[in-house]
Amino acid sequence: MGRIKQLDSLTTNMIAAGEVVERPMGVVKELVENSIDAESTRIDILIEEGGMKKLTVTDNGTGMDSADAEMSFQRHATSKIRSQNDLWTIHTLGFRGEALPSIASVAKVTMTTSDGNDSSRIIIEYGKKISASPYPCDQGTEITVEGLFYRTPARLKHMRSAAYESSLIQDVVLKFALSHPEISFHLYNEGRETFSTSGQGDLLEVIFQAYGRNAAENAVEVSFRDFDYEVEGYLLKPSVSRASRNAMHLFLNGRMVRTYKLYQAVREGYDQLIPAGRFPVCVLNITMDPHLLDVNVHPSKWEVRLSKELQLETLLRTEVRNAMMASMPAPAASLSEARTYYYEPLSFDTDALVPETTKKEEPVKEPEEVKQPVIEKKPVKEPVQETPAAEEEEEKPDFPAMEVIGQFRGKYIICSTASGLVLIRQNAADRRIRYEEILSAMKNSRLTEDLLLPVTVHVTDALAARCDELNEAVSETGISFEVFGHDTLAVRSLPSWAKGLSGEAFLKGLAELFESDELRAGQVQSNTALAAVRHLPGLKNLTMEDMKELVRKLSLCENPFRDLSGRPVFIVLDEKELEKEFRR
Ligand code: ADP
Ligand code: MG
Repeated sequence: MGRIKQLDSLTTNMIAAGEVVERPMGVVKELVENSIDAESTRIDILIEEGGMKKLTVTDNGTGMDSADAEMSFQRHATSKIRSQNDLWTIHTLGFRGEALPSIASVAKVTMTTSDGNDSSRIIIEYGKKISASPYPCDQGTEITVEGLFYRTPARLKHMRSAAYESSLIQDVVLKFALSHPEISFHLYNEGRETFSTSGQGDLLEVIFQAYGRNAAENAVEVSFRDFDYEVEGYLLKPSVSRASRNAMHLFLNGRMVRTYKLYQAVREGYDQLIPAGRFPVCVLNITMDPHLLDVNVHPSKWEVRLSKELQLETLLRTEVRNAMMASMPAPAASLSEARTYYYEPLSFDTDALVPETTKKEEPVKEPEEVKQPVIEKKPVKEPVQETPAAEEEEEKPDFPAMEVIGQFRGKYIICSTASGLVLIRQNAADRRIRYEEILSAMKNSRLTEDLLLPVTVHVTDALAARCDELNEAVSETGISFEVFGHDTLAVRSLPSWAKGLSGEAFLKGLAELFESDELRAGQVQSNTALAAVRHLPGLKNLTMEDMKELVRKLSLCENPFRDLSGRPVFIVLDEKELEKEFRR
């Protein structure tokens, strides 16, 4: 009794003003947040017509006595903070004391609630109290919202189809479930259960419920921290990616937020493992001292301010990259694991080919060095030309020693290794090699060569006018454009790494990347290298020597396993499985 108090005007003035709810999804979000703050372990959400006709949120939390129940509909009445100082140590999802009164002013709201002793029901219609009376019910709270925005046509007008509004609700419930696996959620749409979680606290189970078996099987558990931030969750391997950012879930102190920069940092951690224009699937719960997180930015609480945002971005980018690199067949991985992994994109059933037992037992039977010899790290007879690559050789993941057998259709190089047959997609290998060569040359050399004739690049007038900006953006690549007419740029010298590239196509590609804003800071060099290899002609028929050289160079790559869109460069057919195919 008396848990809820009205905030003083000093505090209410400090709270970001504006509309709390703009659509049914916002109502569900506020109500479920209240249920979570009330320590519920089960929350049911029912919606009809996308929540526009009716929506109900039922929880088994602490509930309220009748006095608090009435108080909860007062403006700025909350049990969660007391004064403005508390705004900096928020441990609950709510704190504004505005949701219930706001919702009750634009809908018919029925609340039944009980703290275990005192139970009551309150009905409010469009801001007007209809009744408040004792009403028997179990401990917990149930709030039903009907006829939302019915009397505020301006807002009603913004509603879209029921299907659309329900999909937003579905997303928000999913986010709650992912950020709170310890709570059991049940969502019913038109009387049919469309999503549920057990509340066992197992995040992987929620991922399974949300995205299916394949996603759960490709989820890599991560846990890392620095002085200020602690991050836990799952990253899906790059083989599972999406066309939108929708399945990237980042939670800050259990709160769903829209923080574009953090999403970008995670995306950058996946680097070229995922094709351009696609996004990873991940769930990361990030926790920190609430002092670092200002949630009092916007009434809907989607927007937040982080005082050490850059630090968190760097942590995410680095650790996501490490985790994804480690999830690739690394030194410890056996060749047959690699094979299974790289088979994934192919359409036949690998499980049938590789029984669990073969995968697990193989490395145990014999020490790895004997079973899977790797390429001599520093070939004595063949000195490596690229110094940077040579320096990195020590930490490189094991690349199986391969002996070139031949070529297939001018596309694949066929090799034999200790454990089986390898098919290398030669163009993928070539691009990977050239990309890494260009990138390291760009980082290590500032040499440029004057061209006999300048390369001219036709661009839009708008871009030509932004030549200075363009030069600033690409300055770290050693390339410099100059204006050569209203729609033409010219380049008079090229860095040594650009030798052999088709100058115009590449420079035009680079300028276009800048124009479409895809030349992101921090990634200028790698984006430039990508643009450079994109225009390379494909390899056709190769001599044995060419192929050996290609394999050797590939073995020196930092990431010889994936092409620049994240697809496999080669696959290994394990001899044992080949035997099985022949029923031996
Ligand atoms: P806020 O969540 O910002 O405090 P609300 O208007 O959402 O403001 O809720 C007002 C108060 O009503 C809360 O502080 C809480 O004490 C109480 N309340 C609301 N929903 C519930 C619930 N489901 N269970 C228990 N108490 C609740
Ligand atoms: Mg609230």
